[in-house]
Amino acid sequence: MKIKLLEKTDNKVKLELNGTNPAFTNMLRRTIVQHVSVAAIDNIDVIKNTSALYNETLAHRIGHVPITYKNKMVQKENCKCKNKGCPLCEVKMVLKKSGPCTVYAKDFKSTDKDVKPSNGDIIIVKLYENQKIDLEATVVINTGKEHTNWQAAIVGYQYYPELKIAKDVKNIKDIVSACPKGLIDEKTMKLTNPEKCDFCRQCVDIASNDTVTITGDKTRHILTVETVSGTDPKTIILDALTNMAENLKELETQIK
Ligand code: SF4
Ligand SMILES: [Zn+2]
Repeated sequence: MKIKLLEKTDNKVKLELNGTNPAFTNMLRRTIVQHVSVAAIDNIDVIKNTSALYNETLAHRIGHVPITYKNKMVQKENCKCKNKGCPLCEVKMVLKKSGPCTVYAKDFKSTDKDVKPSNGDIIIVKLYENQKIDLEATVVINTGKEHTNWQAAIVGYQYYPELKIAKDVKNIKDIVSACPKGLIDEKTMKLTNPEKCDFCRQCVDIASNDTVTITGDKTRHILTVETVSGTDPKTIILDALTNMAENLKELETQIK
């Protein structure tokens, strides 16, 4: 299999997998979604809340704040404390503010400096005069298999597009301008950035007599991994590969 990195940012990685099949790409996708461990807020104890938001709404907002952590934190069920909760598997974060002010994710005070919101500029709530919040959040490690709260990333893949335009096509200018993303080159009659094609089929619809076809290559996929947790996409993919390798090793051991 040939793999090409198409895009890499702090939040997103796009890869071209050439020589794959839907079963393999889907295994990678499902492993990333369900089996990569990330940190997220599990429980919130509200001590005082006189803000405009109900406790449930406030907790819901806070629960979606992505959290970064260092690898020394372990999943509760694998911890020495046997699921009771200890500094190795649980980190407390306190949020205490009085209005008037805007409360940001960076206002959380964590008991572990390596465990904190990945983006401090996320707004939690606005407090007016005499309003106050005082709460304690518990961060734990888990996986998307347990709950989407711990889903590491959104992952999708599509087949690599193949555009075919008949040589005797009459309305090439119309076909070129029909593409909303401007991907068709008039001279070569090929896609300039195939990975940007979303199979909208507008180029096919405007052509006559099947002179244009757009199909997907089942053996060549474009995989997009976009983090929705506090873990970066590179680490997420590497963790998923480790997880897959461990499972395959276990299979190998059992077969032997
Ligand atoms: S399918 Fe849509 S995006 Fe792809 S080349 Fe045709 S018009 Fe452009
Ligand atoms: Zn523990």
